[in-house]
Amino acid sequence: MPITLTDLRTCVLDMDGVIWTMDDPIPGAAEAISRLKSLGLSVGYLTNNSSKTRTDYVRKLAKFGIEAAEADVMTSAYATALLLAKQGSAQSRAYVIGEQGLRDELASVGIDIATKADEPNVTLVIVGWDRQFTYDKLAAAHGYIVRGGARFIATNRDATYPDAGGRTLPGGGSIVAAVATCAGVEPQTIGKPEPHALLLMLEPDGLRLDECLVIGDRLDTDIALGRRWGAPAAMVLTGISTLEEIDATPADLRPDVVAADLPALVDMLEA
Ligand SMILES: [Mg+2]
Repeated sequence: MPITLTDLRTCVLDMDGVIWTMDDPIPGAAEAISRLKSLGLSVGYLTNNSSKTRTDYVRKLAKFGIEAAEADVMTSAYATALLLAKQGSAQSRAYVIGEQGLRDELASVGIDIATKADEPNVTLVIVGWDRQFTYDKLAAAHGYIVRGGARFIATNRDATYPDAGGRTLPGGGSIVAAVATCAGVEPQTIGKPEPHALLLMLEPDGLRLDECLVIGDRLDTDIALGRRWGAPAAMVLTGISTLEEIDATPADLRPDVVAADLPALVDMLEA
């Protein structure tokens, strides 16, 4: 379906592969974001990366010449915390496999974090990307879910994470899969392509999904998010997914628009 600018009120951008690759800027991205704002669109930033806080991302955006407020940024870590708070679970104890950003965001809504196995009153097991993942952590999560009946939540299920030089590293989804395998339970997933994080971004301004252009580089997360839940989806070719992969994707999960990069996408919207 072609995208019509007059139908849009906001854009939600993925960051890695759209604005930067690791610590390298994608040329023209910052200026393209200014042009999106000049078109009258609000701009938000949404990442499945659970290892950093919103504050970390505001700082990183500033480093790339992009001015954003904490309220403009949503991560799978903060979406998990916010959703649990909205569900009345902010006073819960959680066992967490994840990095400091996830721990900080969960603590920010009041969730108490268990630090080892077999602690009392742990009702949640929350799993994200953890570069210090160990067998002991897996065993602790297994015990809390299987013996303790804790609810299993995944911040995201990305199989891989982009690394320098076009290489990839194991993503949070690979750790989630380890927990799911030994626990024999599938988690509730919060990040893209599930709708929770995006809905939490749109809710404060009363925006609808069909008024939001989702911009990303990954078919299985960014583009699937838009196409599954009714938001127009634009893919840029500066990240993970390729034109060949679009051809191999079912028609109902292909992007509405494909552009070489973010500046080229904004050119198309302006035309
Ligand atoms: Mg990306």
